[in-house]
Amino acid sequence: MNPFDRKLEEHQQTLTRSLPKILQLNTGKLCNITCTHCHVNAGPGRKELISSEHLTRTLDWFETTDIATIDLTGGTPEMHPEFRSLVERVRSFDQPREVLTRLNATIIEEPGYEWIPEFHAKHKVVCIASMPCYSPENVNEQRGDGVFDRSITAFQKLNKLGYGIDPELPLHLVYNPNGAFLPPEQKALEADYKREMKKHFDIDFHNLFCIANMPIARYAVYLKRNKQLAEYHKLLVESFNPASIDNLMCRDTISVDWQGRVFDCDFNQQLDMQLANGKPLDIWDVDIETFAAMPIITGSHCFGCTAGSGSSCGGALVEIG
Ligand code: SF4
Ligand code: SF4
Repeated sequence: MNPFDRKLEEHQQTLTRSLPKILQLNTGKLCNITCTHCHVNAGPGRKELISSEHLTRTLDWFETTDIATIDLTGGTPEMHPEFRSLVERVRSFDQPREVLTRLNATIIEEPGYEWIPEFHAKHKVVCIASMPCYSPENVNEQRGDGVFDRSITAFQKLNKLGYGIDPELPLHLVYNPNGAFLPPEQKALEADYKREMKKHFDIDFHNLFCIANMPIARYAVYLKRNKQLAEYHKLLVESFNPASIDNLMCRDTISVDWQGRVFDCDFNQQLDMQLANGKPLDIWDVDIETFAAMPIITGSHCFGCTAGSGSSCGGALVEIG
């Protein structure tokens, strides 16, 4: 039994699935920047992208389900050459679905990607965008030089179209710590962000999601280089919050990688912990009822989702204080 499962047992908790509500599709590892906290090791040199064939098979499968939301992640999903046809296809389904993108706002400022704000607004794509601080130093340190200014300009363009203002055009920002510590209380930080982003840059957004950094891939290397990996892991374990278990994202998400392989979450994906049911599972072979009964594969990294207020792609899992 791994230490996370032991901790669950200690707290008389079990981690089981319900029917999936979200299909999270990782379109590949291509990105225009290389953030230190990236758990995907994404960057400009990465070649892994979902193929046309696998994308079609994934969407064919998705169309047959009642899953309400497709959550597009990467890398930078908009850099996939078929991003637009993917969104258009989902929008053409008889049964309406919510489309979310994990938007790296800097891509809007790259030549050739000027279409993004209008396209997203036209198709009512929900934008969830990283913005680890409202001051430039922390953002540039974590995400690279110039990222802060390019993100600000991109958010202003999105605001002009109604993103962050119109309830039909949600713009949510994502905070993650710039070091080996846990995020602060989400509601209080959201109030600070709203005040400062409005005052200094006239930017509006809907919600702030606080996400803890997961000590895997590039972020684990970064912590190791700074001799903080063991200390951060200890902090995650010691901050275990049993109240977060009910809301863990692996309970109602089905995570798919650029090869169509199925995982419990994007973290397990990066750790190559593919689900299997007799044989390794691909999305087009998934039977929803069977999937819902399959055990979730856990590991020590799961403490990254259960520390403090808990953490998921939708931010904190419990309110504290
Ligand atoms: S965290 Fe996001 S924006 Fe940064 S390198 Fe990774 S995929 Fe790209
Ligand atoms: S890392 Fe994945 S499997 Fe583990 S608790 Fe978090 S969401 Fe669930």
